[in-house]
Amino acid sequence: MARMHRVISWDAEDMSITVEPSIQMNHLMDTMHELGMSMPFHYIPIYTALTIGGMLLTGAHSSSVERPSAFGHLVSELEYVDSHGEVRREENPTRWIGSLGMYGIITQVTLRATAPYKLNTTAAVGGKMGLMLDQVNFTPIPTDWTICYFEKHLPPFWYKEGSTNLWLGFNESVIGWPHKLGGSSCEGSQVGCYWQNQVQILIEFDMDVRLLGQWIREVRSITDSIRYHGCLPSLLGFAMRFGKASSAPLDMAYGRDTVYIDMLVAKGIPGLPANHQDVLDEIEQITFGKYDARPHWGKNPERAFLSQDYPVRNKYPEFDRHIQMARSADPRGIFEPALFSQIKDRGHHSMYPGCAVAMDCYCSKDEHCGPSLLYRCDRSLHSANASVCRKRFDLAIVTTLGKLLRV
Ligand SMILES: Cc1cc2nc3c(=O)[nH]c(=O)nc-3n(C[C@H](O)[C@H](O)[C@H](O)COP(=O)(O)OP(=O)(O)OC[C@H]3O[C@@H](n4cnc5c(N)ncnc54)[C@H](O)[C@@H]3O)c2cc1C
Repeated sequence: MARMHRVISWDAEDMSITVEPSIQMNHLMDTMHELGMSMPFHYIPIYTALTIGGMLLTGAHSSSVERPSAFGHLVSELEYVDSHGEVRREENPTRWIGSLGMYGIITQVTLRATAPYKLNTTAAVGGKMGLMLDQVNFTPIPTDWTICYFEKHLPPFWYKEGSTNLWLGFNESVIGWPHKLGGSSCEGSQVGCYWQNQVQILIEFDMDVRLLGQWIREVRSITDSIRYHGCLPSLLGFAMRFGKASSAPLDMAYGRDTVYIDMLVAKGIPGLPANHQDVLDEIEQITFGKYDARPHWGKNPERAFLSQDYPVRNKYPEFDRHIQMARSADPRGIFEPALFSQIKDRGHHSMYPGCAVAMDCYCSKDEHCGPSLLYRCDRSLHSANASVCRKRFDLAIVTTLGKLLRV
């Protein structure tokens, strides 16, 4: 599969391009630029070393407040091999969004491109200007809820090549081609990049955008309640992106205008919960439970899909029907993803010593927070159903006591 990364054909008049599924987004965008076309910026993910097939099948998205922003909405045609070994053309490509490949092996994808354009990107801290724009990523930093934002939009109509961009008064804007500015990968980096070095895990919550205000207030009260002065070292922020309601049955934005929230957790000490893991786990469970958020098919640990308290199956009204449809075309279930089989069979996430540290489970016994005896499994302070690994002692108090005893 990895070698299926060729460009098959293109039509610069019709603005479409047909590729094999393992081509990476960054390589595809470079080629499109050479061919005189561009990727619409609403569908370019932040990280561009992802494959076209992987993005389609996990429901990967970028951001838009005007249209559904899952990448799969750009797919106009699709060719695949079914469970009988026959090559087929798909009539309804959007049913593949978030399907994890349950209908077959994709061999070709045709995408709608757009005419070449320049992109205006701005990164800034504070302010509310970004709220007016279609494509914006917000990252509120939970220490004081300062908002960092990163936005992409078309340059103003009076923009001339080489002129200073003074649009809306921003002076931190950069204007350039979308294949250069739309996203980035770690390729060519000598020191590795943010994703590899700093971020331990990406946890994504996809919820009804109308609940965002209430959610921020609740999460604020949780982060405030730990009375941590300075920053929360393990929580790098919440990156927020948007998408209009989608009719694709397994799209994370199915049926509701959605805010996609990434909880960015910093790398911690291997084998130990992250610093303030209890706070992070509270936020995660409350968001999946009370706010009925959906996890990202390609990001979250399994526990987000297999919890008995808020089964993901109940979050997709069409889930059962589509699993049945796939099964009738593939009676032996050759392509049924293991995760879908577990969801269908109402499986539970695995429980073993240390499983909560590995983020495979939400704890129910102390041993799930092991092997360190520093942690115990505790009831959530904010939700009846949630339980979290909490430190038995506050390390700051232990250190202070140690110092006092030495004096
Ligand atoms: C650093 C980083 C940044 C990310 N940023 C974003 C982001 O901005 N937005 C976002 O939505 N997501 C993002 N993601 C999540 C990403 O969308 C998923 O991790 C996705 O799985 C990545 O695609 P991949 O190319 O690695 O696909 P893979 O993980 O290789 O594949 C995904 C699934 O598709 C199946 N599959 C792949 N190709 C085919 C095929 N041809 N036929 C049948 N089945 C196939 C695989 O078996 C697998 O089940 C990010 C992930 C990382 C690691």
